[in-house]
Amino acid sequence: MIDLVFDAPVEKKKAPIHLSDLTVAQRKERAEELGLPAFRANQLAVHFFTHYNDDPESWSDIPKELRQPLADAFLPKLLTLVRSITCDGGKTRKDLWRLHDGVLVESVLMKYTDRTTVCISSQAGCGMKCPFCATGQAGLTRNLTAGEITAQVVMAAKACAAGELPGGETRLSNVVFMGMGEPLANYKPVMQSVRNLTSPQPNGLGIGARSVTVSTVGLVSGIDKLIDEDIPVTLAISLHTPDDELRDSLVPINSRWKVREVLQAADRYEAKTGRRYSIEYALIRDINDQAWRADLLGRLLKNKNAHVNLIPLNPTPGSKWTASRAEDERAFVEILEGYGVPVTVRDTRGREIDGACGQLAAAEVSSAK
Ligand code: SF4
Repeated sequence: MIDLVFDAPVEKKKAPIHLSDLTVAQRKERAEELGLPAFRANQLAVHFFTHYNDDPESWSDIPKELRQPLADAFLPKLLTLVRSITCDGGKTRKDLWRLHDGVLVESVLMKYTDRTTVCISSQAGCGMKCPFCATGQAGLTRNLTAGEITAQVVMAAKACAAGELPGGETRLSNVVFMGMGEPLANYKPVMQSVRNLTSPQPNGLGIGARSVTVSTVGLVSGIDKLIDEDIPVTLAISLHTPDDELRDSLVPINSRWKVREVLQAADRYEAKTGRRYSIEYALIRDINDQAWRADLLGRLLKNKNAHVNLIPLNPTPGSKWTASRAEDERAFVEILEGYGVPVTVRDTRGREIDGACGQLAAAEVSSAK
């Protein structure tokens, strides 16, 4: 039996506390603890969430002598850029970040015609051990803090506002928790970061909850907690196969919560929020792309408020897993559509830049050895 990791190893050295680790009330308390009026916390929130500005030198609304102490107390630098790689004519950019303790994580910024999306990491590594996934092979290093998760989004928003993507200045519109890690295995920091993303400015980035997607391999206890949050984010279930027999090995958490239980939890989420949920399905040649599996998935999802997102697998170096043949992919789509299930095939952004999650960090670690 595979030993799945839910409790992350404790950080050797704790990440410095950041404004975005704190609730609005806690931010004010922290300012008062420092002997400062509470409104200073509010000013810093404006600098960070509205102007993406953590450079104390430029905070002209704050007395000079207070700038550095406030920066140290509220906006310590959490992410250092190691390198960026771009492809798709610059419309896809993968950033590799070093955290305070040397741990590496990555985020991917993608510009589409109708939106700009950042895909962020919620953990360094992942304890879920999905055998086809580069991150899963390396195991879990540690959970990220709310500040470290939020900072990935703020850096992406800053890059958009600075016109760093082709086409000039744009607004970051969507966030997907589909980078390294299982978000619901790092529940509290992920939810604090979701609140940072969705709270209106100045207390957060003001991104609509519907434009934030939280993905999970199917931690039913986490989905049930999410139902009680009253933040109608989009829920994505990484199902990858509709039958328990294969899913037990493809997504090992299935040994704890079976396909039926996961889909029932997604239905409860849909009933509470009214939000259509998404089923993520990495199509893997001759593993999970057979017509009978499409048929079973169609029967399970028929008449449900769900949408299937097929992902052509991005093979990891040295892996036996590879993408499906074009004709098998087409047949899979047609069978699902025959059941009236909406289907999209995800574009394969970032293929040339080690597109599968975790690959850039893995490459950096091995080149540093
Ligand atoms: S596919 Fe997702 S949940 Fe599975 S090991 Fe990779 S990062 Fe973790």
